[in-house]
Amino acid sequence: NLPVKSTCYMRALFDYDPSEDTLLPCKEIGLPFQKGDVLQIVDQADPNWWQARRVEGEGLGPPGLVPSLELEERRKAFVPPEADFVHKISICGTKISKKKKRKMYQSKSNGEFDSAELLLYEEVARMPPFRRKTLALVGPRGVGRRTLKNRLINSDPEKFGTIVPYTSRPPRVLEEDGKSYWFTDRESMETDIREHRYLEYGEHGGHLYGTKLDSVRELIRAGKMCVLDCSPAALKILHNSTEFMPYVIFIAAPGMEQLKWLYDLARSTGTSNRNLTEDDLKATLEESAALQRAYEKYIDLVIVNEDFDNTFRQVIAALDALATEHQWVPVNWIY
Ligand code: 5GP
Repeated sequence: NLPVKSTCYMRALFDYDPSEDTLLPCKEIGLPFQKGDVLQIVDQADPNWWQARRVEGEGLGPPGLVPSLELEERRKAFVPPEADFVHKISICGTKISKKKKRKMYQSKSNGEFDSAELLLYEEVARMPPFRRKTLALVGPRGVGRRTLKNRLINSDPEKFGTIVPYTSRPPRVLEEDGKSYWFTDRESMETDIREHRYLEYGEHGGHLYGTKLDSVRELIRAGKMCVLDCSPAALKILHNSTEFMPYVIFIAAPGMEQLKWLYDLARSTGTSNRNLTEDDLKATLEESAALQRAYEKYIDLVIVNEDFDNTFRQVIAALDALATEHQWVPVNWIY
């Protein structure tokens, strides 16, 4: 029995079309919405149907019924059970965490998908314009996130900064501690990972690499927006904490031709030395679509990186808009 507040706002994390809902007693009273829409929940007295209005710009649309969290959960639970996962929900300020058996996203061996979880509604609140603390550039490898990050930092080093990752790999010739990496030993990294001091980490060629939470905190304390070209596995930690308040941009893979061009550019500028086949490029396109689907609830903006100048301009415009327009953010950023 959850405490029911009179009015709250929920961001919908699924599409809803009342005309296709066989459970709705009368189609006309249903309120259609799309993933990402913000709904004002006016009444939650009925366990199956909430009365809601869609937030449209500065106003509200007409009222209608939307499936309650409980109903939608039950409906989605008809999917054959396959995997155990922790299902977290939040209803008007009340967070519930429970274990369920259900098939989720396809699990990939690289762990990129492990922290994606199913959420149907997320409670949000309207905030006046404010600056986010971190900028997370996520997406598949090889679509230019690192180049974009460097360009942002070079464009305004007072405003943007980034962290130096840690690694257990021994330094190569001419590699200085604290420049590309902080060099440390595997044992200390493993201890810190176990003690949740890392935002994210990965293993490459038998060595550990990762981003320490304290490195991000330090940059935020220095008054900078911390730009991270991180794995999407980091998004859950960033999203769920007021410390990091991220703006998340998904840099999506462009078409095959542009993707080839990006790889050639990365090789000619020394950002990458990978030799890629047509199949590798196809895999990047597939990975891009799958990652975007799995993490869409965290993503504020998707940019298809077809040309760096344009992508850079879009990022700057989006960040400027945050400083002038109100924002709907998770309630846990406020309370
Ligand atoms: P290298 O040893 O050649 O500098 O890097 C090897 C790999 O480590 C690269 O593929 C790079 O993307 C990855 N890497 C570098 N820093 C990090 C990090 O902070 N986290 C993770 N997960 N991987 C990293």
